Amino acid sequence: MRARRRGTATTSGRRPKTSPAPAKDRRIPVAILGATGTVGQRFLDLLSAHPWFRVVEVMASDQSAGKTYEEAVGSRWKLAAPIPEAVRRLKVKKPGDPLSARVLFSSLDASVAGEVETHYARAGHLVSSNARNHRMDPLVPLVIPEVNRDHLEMLDRQKHPKGGGIVTNPNCSAIAIALAVAPLHRQFGVEALIVTTFQAVSGAGYPGVPSLDILGNIVPHIGGGEEAKIESETLKILGRLGKKGFEPAPFPLSAAIHRVPVLDGHLMAISLRLRARATRKQIAASFAAFRPLARLGLPSAPAEPLLLRPEEDRPQPRLDVDRAGGMGVTLGRLRPCSVLDWKFEALGHNTIRGAAGAAILNAEILARDGRI
Ligand code: NAP
Repeated sequence: MRARRRGTATTSGRRPKTSPAPAKDRRIPVAILGATGTVGQRFLDLLSAHPWFRVVEVMASDQSAGKTYEEAVGSRWKLAAPIPEAVRRLKVKKPGDPLSARVLFSSLDASVAGEVETHYARAGHLVSSNARNHRMDPLVPLVIPEVNRDHLEMLDRQKHPKGGGIVTNPNCSAIAIALAVAPLHRQFGVEALIVTTFQAVSGAGYPGVPSLDILGNIVPHIGGGEEAKIESETLKILGRLGKKGFEPAPFPLSAAIHRVPVLDGHLMAISLRLRARATRKQIAASFAAFRPLARLGLPSAPAEPLLLRPEEDRPQPRLDVDRAGGMGVTLGRLRPCSVLDWKFEALGHNTIRGAAGAAILNAEILARDGRI
């Protein structure tokens, strides 16, 4: 039997003028909470051509609700790429509105994120959040898929009635620190760590730090308990999930933070002491071999999560922040430390690897593991 052609032939034998029905979009519908902000815009850009997820709903505050996305974001759209066509005319929802998407990406302001995310998890949604509110919750996994994918098991203990849950990604500095240190901690054991950060202005959202405060200046303070977050979150990620819950990595970690006049990209100067002796060559090999997600086929996973540059003046935000689509952490200046054992620099894109891209990668690993 011959296969039937698509469409119905007319009595004249000619094909009808109606166009064939569009192919069904089988991608997973997702919603963005806090869609009008700095991180929300990154979500929309990164998801505009995502092979697994498609944005069907957007949410922001009452001042944006009811408008089309284009009207609500207005001149606050700050990416070079235009607003994705599929999103321009979506009506912005407000917190509490019913949502149809099973997966919600949250970049809500911390003043509301905690309550709103809990509401939707209870309603059966899986929330992948950037906000700080639930990161240190004893029942909420704080995940970097390359480092502590096993912590996602904690989702089973959240016991939200309709199968909902909350998974978080770390603070934008903690994510680069934990990624850079993970292979060394695994192979040699970290005994002490000191980090000094140089954080970009986009980390403060929009409009963020007043230009008169930051131009030609460095501000040795970032609100919201930034130093404490970097310390506690990094240790939670590098720790283990035991029968009684998360056990943080048992080494002392001290962070000192600075806001610098850089648009995107947080640079970190890291010094650490290792339990086992390690040569420069062994440490470089440990970074190079760190590819835990290779062959899983996750669309946002970088082929080389860590890249140690050989030049003496790299990494630099302007030159290296977009490596691997902003998902790679770039390292450099690996050298002996005269107080601890070794020191090096690490650079990560704060709104991609440190925020939207991180939450998307978390959802990809959940989808691959059959949890979505
Ligand atoms: P932002 O530019 O200030 O955007 C905040 C978003 O939250 C906007 O969409 C805003 O909507 C919405 N919002 C504010 N108040 C709200 C309310 N009462 N109800 C509902 N929505 C409300 O901030 P951001 O930099 O994108 O950061 C968003 C979240 O991600 C924060 O929790 C932040 O800590 C975290 N984060 C940021 C970065 C970064 O590098 N920027 C990195 C990691 C994590 P309207 O436009 O309608 O006001």
